[in-house]
Amino acid sequence: MTPPVILWFRNDLRLADHAALQAAMAAGRPVLPVYVLDDQPNGGGAWAPGAATKWWLHHSLTALTDSLAARGAPLVLRRGASVPTILSLIQETGADTVFTGAMPEPEARAIDRALAEALSNTGVTVRRLRTAMLFSPREIATGAGRPYAVYTPFANACLTRSPAPAIPAPDRIPAASAPRSETLADWGLLPTKPDWAAGMRATWTPGEAGAQARLTRFLALPPNAYATARDRPDLPATAMLSPHLHFGEIAADTVWRGAGDGRAAFVRELLWREFSIHQLWHNPALPDAPAKPAFENMPWRDDPAGLTAWQRGLTGVPIVDAGMRELWQTGWMHNRVRMVVASFLVKHLMIDWRQGERWFWDTLVDADLAANAANWQWVAGSGADAAPYFRVFNPVLQGRKFDPDGAYVRRYVPELRRLDTRYIHAPWEAPPMALAAAGIALGRSYPHPIIDLARGRERALAAFAALRAGV
Ligand SMILES: Cc1cc2nc3c(=O)[nH]c(=O)nc-3n(C[C@H](O)[C@H](O)[C@H](O)COP(=O)(O)OP(=O)(O)OC[C@H]3O[C@@H](n4cnc5c(N)ncnc54)[C@H](O)[C@@H]3O)c2cc1C
Repeated sequence: MTPPVILWFRNDLRLADHAALQAAMAAGRPVLPVYVLDDQPNGGGAWAPGAATKWWLHHSLTALTDSLAARGAPLVLRRGASVPTILSLIQETGADTVFTGAMPEPEARAIDRALAEALSNTGVTVRRLRTAMLFSPREIATGAGRPYAVYTPFANACLTRSPAPAIPAPDRIPAASAPRSETLADWGLLPTKPDWAAGMRATWTPGEAGAQARLTRFLALPPNAYATARDRPDLPATAMLSPHLHFGEIAADTVWRGAGDGRAAFVRELLWREFSIHQLWHNPALPDAPAKPAFENMPWRDDPAGLTAWQRGLTGVPIVDAGMRELWQTGWMHNRVRMVVASFLVKHLMIDWRQGERWFWDTLVDADLAANAANWQWVAGSGADAAPYFRVFNPVLQGRKFDPDGAYVRRYVPELRRLDTRYIHAPWEAPPMALAAAGIALGRSYPHPIIDLARGRERALAAFAALRAGV
């Protein structure tokens, strides 16, 4: 009997532009598609999948199961530690090659090393292909062969290259005789009591078809809409592709090719994703420790009440609250608002960026170890090419500039819906008549700000300046 090859899906849950699928098919033997849910203690390490991730994964795997079945090769699902699970599948099926995608997360790379070791001298080979990143982190390096520490030269180096050529999804996949599979229902990835996912269902269609539809919708917008309006959370100007890209339901190469030459600003954002991935590759401690070690001495405040108010969208600062509630309802938040809420937590409240990173990890549908850590460190000032420490976003001015009519705040903070636009981003400045006319009783129907913004800013600047001076 011809031994099959195993195609091990990871965060590359698609069939088009999939180099590992293409290589598995080229082997000319039956293909056994497999997904391993490795959420055992130590599976994802301290970064095991969060609740929103699990919701998405359930639906994404449902979509992948259907499209593989339609091509004749059912997906085998197994839950357990990755290495013994793959070893057991090799033994059960007689497979002699495993095709898979190279992932940047430290846990995934540790698994790769352990699997290679377990298979050494067995005659079974593992072939890892690039399915989750545009370029190999070894390929994009400075003239001296070192990783780029600054985004612009990194992006310029990427832009001298091109996205990979298209690989169409196969019509048929020659199936191997499939061993036992678990079912998605067994895995219990969906919330039950309470079912908090209604807002996510209304916002997203996980899976490859949903990803393609998002790209098509984005490409139907005028090419300059992104460059002019991408900072406006009240307008649908960005692609909303991040969860699809995180789970690999669409390849970054596909997105780049689609954007073509007319959407340079968008491609540059896509390269921030790549920059984050390469940062994590070169610095596996990125999610857990400041890239600039001096930041270990930052006198972060222990403020459980402030953290809870931030998480619940009850800080009394409308743009912050709108963002945090958008996150809770939909599993996503507009990038500009992510920067504002992160700056508010880290600077105005002086709460350790790792607490914000953790909350995002559990609640974002696009929670991504590389992008989340790199961006939190960027806002905190401790990361590569980070925002300067003295940049403290003023949430009121940010709101007025990027949500000029208050439409975004009104959508997510309904208790302010009727407030005059002049005061929508700073209700504490509204005269009593205006508040009364809008049915708002500050401190009762909507909180007073939990911090005086000017005082918070001064405190942060002093602390960051002291850190910088090494005092
Ligand atoms: C504190 C903070 C935490 C973040 N955490 C995550 C995260 O966990 N996962 C995540 O995917 N993004 C994260 N981002 C980056 C960014 O906010 C989202 O990628 C973006 O909002 C996704 O929306 P979009 O697809 O409409 O983006 P678009 O503007 O349409 O951009 C297209 C794609 O480019 C990539 N991209 C854009 N901006 C960035 C960026 N700054 N960093 C990395 N990639 C980027 C994303 O893959 C995105 O889908 C974070 C940003 C901040 C400030």
